[in-house]
Amino acid sequence: MDWKQKFESLERISRQLEPDAQARAALSHHALDYAESFLEALPDGLTYVEDAGRSELLDGQIGESATGMEELLQILETAVDTPGINPASGGHLGYIPGGGIYPAAIGDYLADVCNRYSGVHFASPGAARMENQLVAWMAGLVGYSDGAGGDLTSGGSIANLSGIVTARDAMAIRAGDIDNSCIYMTRQAHHCVDKSLRVAGLEECKIRIVPMDQRHRMDDSLLDEMISADQSHGFNPWLIVASAGTTDTGAIDPMLKIGAIARARNLWLHVDAAYGGFFVLCEEGRDALKGLEQADSIVMDPHKGLFLPYGTGAVLVKDVDLLARAHSYQADYMQDAKDRDFGYSPADLSVELSRPFRGLRLWLPLKLFGLEAFRAALSEKIWLARYCHEQLSNMAGFETGHFPDLSVVTFRYVPAGGAADEFNRRLLKAVHNDGKVFISSTMLNGDFTLRVAILHFRTHKAEVDYLLAFLKKTAGELDAGNA
Ligand SMILES: *Cc1c(COP(=O)(O)O)cnc(C)c1O
Repeated sequence: MDWKQKFESLERISRQLEPDAQARAALSHHALDYAESFLEALPDGLTYVEDAGRSELLDGQIGESATGMEELLQILETAVDTPGINPASGGHLGYIPGGGIYPAAIGDYLADVCNRYSGVHFASPGAARMENQLVAWMAGLVGYSDGAGGDLTSGGSIANLSGIVTARDAMAIRAGDIDNSCIYMTRQAHHCVDKSLRVAGLEECKIRIVPMDQRHRMDDSLLDEMISADQSHGFNPWLIVASAGTTDTGAIDPMLKIGAIARARNLWLHVDAAYGGFFVLCEEGRDALKGLEQADSIVMDPHKGLFLPYGTGAVLVKDVDLLARAHSYQADYMQDAKDRDFGYSPADLSVELSRPFRGLRLWLPLKLFGLEAFRAALSEKIWLARYCHEQLSNMAGFETGHFPDLSVVTFRYVPAGGAADEFNRRLLKAVHNDGKVFISSTMLNGDFTLRVAILHFRTHKAEVDYLLAFLKKTAGELDAGNA
């Protein structure tokens, strides 16, 4: 074998993977230009564009030859960054809006370039420390004391799975107990909780759907009765899943009362605060979320309430040892990575081993801006929802749901001629065709209902006013056309 010749040729080709400083500058330059034009176009742009069906631009094979950055960015713009919902827009008032705060992107860029491995302390003591510090900060926010811990996940769904698996192991639910064991939640629990129960092998538990009050909150006295009845029948009630900010209406289950029931009857209380959790940062939210610390495990999503781009959720557990027990592993090839003095590394508390360094995209904006800006933005969202609720209540023909606990407002138009569901479907379609702002719908008590969810850091009064004016005008026109 001619080693020299072999490597000369392979190395020459493989070095294409390492652009030099000048080529890197050109790439970054193109990317930054693209990002700047994208951001500058946001205020006048659309929030929703219907998909044309397919994009020929993306039909090209992944092949052997190289393509230039400019051409690729053009494909990105037309085939990816145009159709569908624009989550970077302040006009995004549907589902639960995500964010996309700018320094998080810088954090991702630096985390990706330096590629520190944050999973174990041994590999990157600084990255592991940063993530542990962020989790400790969140645990403090929700009112947990020492001994709590958690994990930065890719989002709320995985965080819920992690919390539920922790509960399962802490409550010693084994395969043979499942038939006999009861879980309590409302119909308004997020569907990722059903997914988690299924993935965690708990779908065959007796899943008790607890009725709600008029404001879509868990009825705590019925919860207590249901647990008591199950206990007296010899079943094993073990888990309550409550919501602190449901996705549908933003309703907060009565945390203090549910917490007292969980303690008295010895059940694990898991609270899904993926949407609502970070409202503890502002005064209005803190009042609404009283009792969050009663939970044994809590989920909150920085990619919702801290305005991060998609990809960061968090699970917090009051007793971190239980989180570790549910995710413990052993592998001989990891023997160098154990560090007893450090305490838990992120990978000890997670399903993941290799993972992105999520801490940096969170730490950088928090430190760069300071908390004041976040508190004000969250408070602004709550007041915008209250404003929107009040305005809609005063608009002829519109009917609103309950006063917002957080930042979701539900409403519908009741046309003179009846057939309200069909009418509101058409009204929603008109908002989507216009595209300037985006809202979504749900079914509440059997009625097709429209909802406005205000959580984007770029949503201010102007966006809400645009929506209100559009609804008023369009509903009036549609209703006149009906008559
Ligand atoms: C968004 C949301 C989830 C799911 O979180 P992802 O980050 O989308 O996986 C779970 N629960 C609630 C209440 C949510 O709003």
